[in-house]
Amino acid sequence: MVELDIHFGGESMKHMTCIICPNSCELHVDEVTGRITGNKCARGITFAQEELTNPKRTVTTTVKTTINGFPVISVKTNGEIPKSLISTLMYHLNHLTITEELPIGSVVMKNFLKTGVDVVTTKSMTKDGQV
Ligand code: SF4
Repeated sequence: MVELDIHFGGESMKHMTCIICPNSCELHVDEVTGRITGNKCARGITFAQEELTNPKRTVTTTVKTTINGFPVISVKTNGEIPKSLISTLMYHLNHLTITEELPIGSVVMKNFLKTGVDVVTTKSMTKDGQV
């Protein structure tokens, strides 16, 4: 998302791209009036308001394993977490090693920092090393 501050004669506009659906609407937020334009649906309003106050993201990454054929396994959060917590999550995931074969959707980190969000595997591991 590209975010710019543009000032016109004391007015301030924020611009952002809505990432809720593939339409990728360009949203414009008047920081003086709070008016949001550019959205094709109401979800864009909610997105812009949350993006300005408490932006959140789903995180996708990999975790080390000791399983033959799987030096790493792909994982993701099963919900969005505040952007401010992403570096903390990455720190903990970088220090995590999976030591057993897991099916897809297995929880490798439960209720991260009491956000209610788990980190789950997005691929299966099998004994013969095949996904
Ligand atoms: S404002 Fe609505 S239509 Fe536009 S990208 Fe967001 S969710 Fe999609």
